[in-house]
Amino acid sequence: MFYNESIEKISLKRLRKLQDVRLCNIVNLLYSKVPFYRNKFQESGISPSDIKGTGDLYKIPFTKKSDLRDNYPFGLFAIPVEKISRIHVSSGTTGKPTVVGYSGNDIKLFSEVVARSLYAAGARPGMMLQNAYGYGLFTGGLGLHYGAERAGMTVVPVSGGMTERQILLLQDFKPEVISCTPSYAQTLAEEIRKRNISPEELNLKYAILGAEPWTEAIRTEVENGLNVTATNLYGLSEIIGPGVSQEDFEEKGTGSYVWEDHFFPEVVDKDTGEPLPYGEKGVLVFTTLTKEAMPLLRYWTNDISYLYYDKSAKRTHIKMGPILGRADDMLIIRGLNLFHTQIEELIQDIEELNANYQLVVTRESKMDEVEVLVELNEKYYSDIGFPEITSEKPEANEKLQTLQDHFTNKIKGKIGLTMKVTLSAPGDIPRSEGGKLNRIKDLRNS
Ligand code: ADP
Repeated sequence: MFYNESIEKISLKRLRKLQDVRLCNIVNLLYSKVPFYRNKFQESGISPSDIKGTGDLYKIPFTKKSDLRDNYPFGLFAIPVEKISRIHVSSGTTGKPTVVGYSGNDIKLFSEVVARSLYAAGARPGMMLQNAYGYGLFTGGLGLHYGAERAGMTVVPVSGGMTERQILLLQDFKPEVISCTPSYAQTLAEEIRKRNISPEELNLKYAILGAEPWTEAIRTEVENGLNVTATNLYGLSEIIGPGVSQEDFEEKGTGSYVWEDHFFPEVVDKDTGEPLPYGEKGVLVFTTLTKEAMPLLRYWTNDISYLYYDKSAKRTHIKMGPILGRADDMLIIRGLNLFHTQIEELIQDIEELNANYQLVVTRESKMDEVEVLVELNEKYYSDIGFPEITSEKPEANEKLQTLQDHFTNKIKGKIGLTMKVTLSAPGDIPRSEGGKLNRIKDLRNS
């Protein structure tokens, strides 16, 4: 079932034509209305007539987060502020937040792409959504809210956090769908287990998870813990908010559809900016094709992923792989690049561990060191006793030491770095309290 079948299954030939026409319109609009873009075009020696379609995009310079900050707050708006219906601000995960504006039509477009995403995630009209994304300046809450209403769902606008209340509503209202960050879904699953509530007692069927990187290790935990099918929802405020791309619940693990009739994606080399072929990993770059209030050309997301066409998929739109991480979250450890999701992936195959972990980075005598703090899962923990390696429990010690060595070797084998692994008790490592969770503690400059 599709929210908008004719567009989701459009032939690639028709899609390209549509994208080309829309791109030309956006370029003309930006050139005439936004001095920043007019100057950018003039400095690069190009005029709107040089852009005839998406094949010419490479001629246009990137738009970066710093451009949004330099034009703070409303300098990139293409319509007068009085015509703006809503303003959002990015979460500010990586510095000063950036401001985005929406016209009435942009809000409709936002709702449309979220409605498509909800359908792809398994949600249907008449189902109830417990929306545990934060409401407010962050795009997650209101974005999901409007999209779910558009999809004909009943929305429970609980927002992020207040775990006690979330659980009460899950038990009493019995929603079929929940939306939140993957780390908060972990928190909910854990709290439900602690209260001896069986996930089958709830009525949840689908979880729509996004706003931060996550891997199959977390998917397994959330799916088992909440008795749901969990899919990925990606987006960023600069482009629209959540609903830029979404995974289909029956095509899990094969990537997320980018709604490319509205957002044209590219993947470029993170150092040179050169466009990369499908399948190669690099920085995702998006051009908005239909937004009115704040269209962006070639916006450099800093998120690392890849693109490809899945010929056996239900829809024709291109898919993007999971986000490995943000380019500016990438750790460089003794010359090797490292994203925390690489460690997370390895946890999945070790049944004694759960996917609560943190990387602590320090610099000792000019050498970068990474300590991986990871929790034992509850069952193993209660079987074995304490995670500290103590002399009183030689048998348990041996098992823990073997487990620690196994994980250390696995990291060394797959990633090529020696890291210190520290096993801890369930509950020791910080949890998401409702929003995005930072899994890296970098102490090198403190
Ligand atoms: P901020 O950049 O301040 O966090 P946003 O709230 O707009 O601002 O969040 C957008 C960012 O969140 C994306 O650029 C990406 O890094 C991350 N993100 C969003 N959805 C996902 C997802 N499904 N997987 C991985 N990362 C995601």
